This record gives sequence, C-alpha cells and structure tokens, in this order.
Amino acid sequence: MTNEGRFVGVDVGGTKIFALLVTASGEIVGEEKVATAHDGTPMADQIGRAIDGVLSASELTVDRIEGIGIAMPGSVDSETGYLGTVPNIEIDDHRLIDTLRERYPVPVEIGNDVNLGTLAECWLGAGKGADTVVGMFVGTGIGGGVVIDGRLRTGPEDLAGEIGHMVLMVDGPECGCGNRGCFEALASRTAMERAIRDGVAEGRETIILELADNGRIKSGPLRDAFRAGDELVIEVMTRTAYLLAQGILTIRHMVNPDMIVMGGGVIEACEEFMMPMIEEHVRASHMKGSRDTLQIAVSQLGDDAVALGAAALVEAANSDLPVYEMRETAVRDGERDQASAPEASLLTAAAAEPGNVDYPRIDEVAFGSVTIDGERLDHDIHLRANGKVKERKKKWARKDYETSHILGPRELKKALKRGAELLIVGAGFDSMLRLADEGRDLLEQRGVRWEMLPTPEAVERWNSMQGRKALILHVTC
Ligand SMILES: [Zn+2]
Repeated sequence: MTNEGRFVGVDVGGTKIFALLVTASGEIVGEEKVATAHDGTPMADQIGRAIDGVLSASELTVDRIEGIGIAMPGSVDSETGYLGTVPNIEIDDHRLIDTLRERYPVPVEIGNDVNLGTLAECWLGAGKGADTVVGMFVGTGIGGGVVIDGRLRTGPEDLAGEIGHMVLMVDGPECGCGNRGCFEALASRTAMERAIRDGVAEGRETIILELADNGRIKSGPLRDAFRAGDELVIEVMTRTAYLLAQGILTIRHMVNPDMIVMGGGVIEACEEFMMPMIEEHVRASHMKGSRDTLQIAVSQLGDDAVALGAAALVEAANSDLPVYEMRETAVRDGERDQASAPEASLLTAAAAEPGNVDYPRIDEVAFGSVTIDGERLDHDIHLRANGKVKERKKKWARKDYETSHILGPRELKKALKRGAELLIVGAGFDSMLRLADEGRDLLEQRGVRWEMLPTPEAVERWNSMQGRKALILHVTC
C-alpha cells in the first residue's frame, strides 16, 4: 500500500495557522484552520494542532504522508531552517524545524511564506506553464519571490526575492529596514497611506478618512474612494501604479522572467484599475527586449497559495527538479515506499526501481584522484542520482564541523539531490570520513539506505550497484 503521495503544507500567520492536505498533483484534499494563540503556547504545539487536525479529518496517520512543509513570515535560513525575525508572531523556538522533525517521522521543511506563495503560483496558479516567475505582493510592505526555471531561488543569504528592498530612489524616504528609498517605502499601502496623510496635512479634501477603518487606511476603502472619484486617492494610486511599474521594469532587467505574478491586499482590492495602469507604464518602457513577451498577471491561488507552496517545498528542498515536474517524482517516491518496506533488502529495493539513468562508470581511483569515464579528477566528488558529477566542496563540512572529515546534513542534502534512494560513501583510503549523528538522522528520516566503505571498495560497489544511487567519494585519507 502506498501513501498516495500526499503532503501537508502549513501557512503560519499572525492570526491563523492554515494547513492543507495536498496530493502530488496539487489537488487539495483536506484543510484545517486554527487561530494563532498569543498566550505563550509553544509554536510547535500550535502548528502540530493544525497538522494533526488536517490528518485526522482525513483519517490519516502521519506515516501515511510524504512530508510536511511549513511557511513562516519573516526570515528563514533555508539551509538550517533557523528562524530569524518573524513579524507578528511570538517565536519561542527559533529551532522550530528540529522540534517538528523530532515530532514527525517524515521529512519536514520550512521556508518563507512569500517565497512559497510564488512557488505555488508557478506550480498551479497564474504562473502555470511559465519557467521563470517573480512574485510581487503589495500590502503593508512589498514581498516577493523568485522562481527560476521552476526552482525557488533563495540565495546564500536568503535575500533573493526581497524586492520590497530594491532601492528605487537613492536617498529617498526611510524604509522599515533602515535603508532609504526602498521600493516598499515608495509603493506599498503604507507609503500610499503616508502620501494621503501628507495631502490632508496640506489641506487637500478627501473622503478616505471617513472610510478608514479605525484610522487605518486599508485596501478596501482605497478602492471605494477611487471608485467614488476621490481626487487625492486617484492621484496617489495613479502614482503608485507608476512606481509599481518601475519596480517591475527593474525586475525585468535583472531577471527577465516570463511572468510577474502580482498579489497582496492592494492588488486584490484595486486590480480593476491598478493593473491596466501598471501594464500601460510597463509597455511604455523605452528599453525594448528582443520580444515583448513579459506577462503581468494577478495571483490565482488566493489564501491557499502559501500552504500549497509549503507542500511543494517538501519536494523542492530535496531535489533539483522544477516545481512543475515534481508530480512525477512524488509518484516515483510512492513506488519507492512499496519497495523500501522494512523487509525489503537493498537489492530487491534497487531491483524494484531500476531508474533510467545512465550512471557514469568509475574507471579507477588512486590516492588523490579518481577517473570517471576516462576523465581524471584530482578532488573529492559527489555523484548525484541523475548521474551528474560534482566536486565535493570541503567548505560544506568545514563550516559546520571545522573539519572536512564529517558528513553533516548540509552536505548530505546536496549529495542526495535528484531523488537518491541509495547512498554510497567512499570514506577514504584510511576511512577518515565519518557520518555526523544529525547526518545519520537525515538519512533515516528520508528513508535513504547508505553504505560507508573504504574508497576502493566503494568504487566497486558503485559500479555494480543498481537503483537510484548517489556517491560521496573522498579520494585521500
Ligand atoms: Zn527597505
């Protein structure tokens, strides 16, 4: 019996925690909403309540799913899952991912909510069919996400997609981040509100303050005032559409995506008049590309986007596959689960999933070098499940363990990309390479079977072994 490739995606917000049960093809088959508590209840318990709720409603136990993805606002270290600043939520546990991994015996991944919303739009929403998509979400601030060739781009400092902090006006107004002239200091709802209040201070007339909700100028009243012909509001929104278009042009000239997906409260409320204005300014650009093909669309997944993206993250964090190809992987993983039942041996498991990868043959290994398909390399290697050879970078291990002789999760995740189910480690001629405890945990958690062998034996094993395999080879001590 397979687990049918189901994933749980959780969108953690300041007012609610929203969990979806999602199939590998992105169909929503269950949902659970719990109010976010601000009474000191541990965040892991709150998230757990949403996860357990969506599972029990579907009469599923956690071991029947492929994994859990968590979307958090604010900054998340995509390598370690460590949470930085999280707005509007009290975080008692910045190592939330470890707590959840201890609690649930399936892969658990964590990422930034706006990034994941963009990933979902590329997978199932407005960006479906596009390879490269940038999300632009206009609300209190301006959030973004970058998906390149179907893969979420986070970057070494997890700053990719921080489009709200592109500097569009040097020495412009101060932004919440402390810098000046950021995009969101010019074109967010907060910036619009400030422009309106400045207008009022100068004696301009407007109905917006009467429509405002407890003094806050929200997106709905902005729309209503625009429709009612309020001159100040029309002026501010027209200017904002112009500024948003300048942000889009900057992104176009940096990334040249197939599509910009726009969303957030301002766009949702004011789409009917904002979008045509934005479109017009973008088309009027003097800088012409070879083809005028940039599409600007409004997000389609609404409140489900972030949780769907979190579900997609389970696969995205563990493979190099574009998000629109992950359905195939998930189905393959379902088959693997049949084969990797406890009684299945390594060999029967491998036979059940022969794969169709033409793996390179290792001709020879000597102290300090390895020869693969006739090519000699003078360094350690990773050989991934898709048959690609990569240099093993010692900095991965040194960063965490101050020695290159320990394999930890950071390096293993790289080695296991492309869906490895078997891992062979050539530990060196003196078997110096060791597996860190948390590395072992990662392998167990992912159901990857592994063998640590002295390097010459590992090479023989690699050449003879069938299945979706990966290799880490240390060519010295
Ligand atoms: Zn800023």
